[in-house]
Amino acid sequence: MIIIKPEVFKAMQEFALSNHPNEIVVLLRGRKEKDDIIITDYLLPPFGLGGRGFASFPSHMLPIDFTIMGTAHSHPSGVLQPSIGDFHNFYGRIMLIIGPPYDQPRVAAYNKSCELVGVKLSNVS
Ligand SMILES: [Zn+2]
Repeated sequence: MIIIKPEVFKAMQEFALSNHPNEIVVLLRGRKEKDDIIITDYLLPPFGLGGRGFASFPSHMLPIDFTIMGTAHSHPSGVLQPSIGDFHNFYGRIMLIIGPPYDQPRVAAYNKSCELVGVKLSNVS
C-alpha cells in the first residue's frame, strides 16, 4: 500500500492542473515502513521536462537520495494506464499516474513489476 499525505496529493494535482494539457513529473519523497510506502513530500526533478504526451528527466543528473521513493506524473488524457515508455523510465520503487479531473482522487500506482499497487490518502507525519 502507498500512503500519501492528502495535502501532498492535492499540491501535485494543482501542479498538474496548472500545466494541463502538458504532463508534469515530480519525485516522491518519503520512507518505507514494512510493506507500505509513505509519501510525505514531493520535489521537482532537476532539468525535468514536461510536454504533450511526454514528461521525463535525466535520471543520471539526480543526487543520490534514499528518501526518494519513486515518481509521479500526469496523464492529461485521463487514461491511468502506464505507457511502455513509463516502464522504461521507471525510477525508484513506485510510479504514480494522476489524471484529470484534478479535483478528484484519480490516481493509479505501479511497482517495478508493472503491478498495480493500492493508494490511500491519509494524514501521516
Ligand atoms: Zn505516462
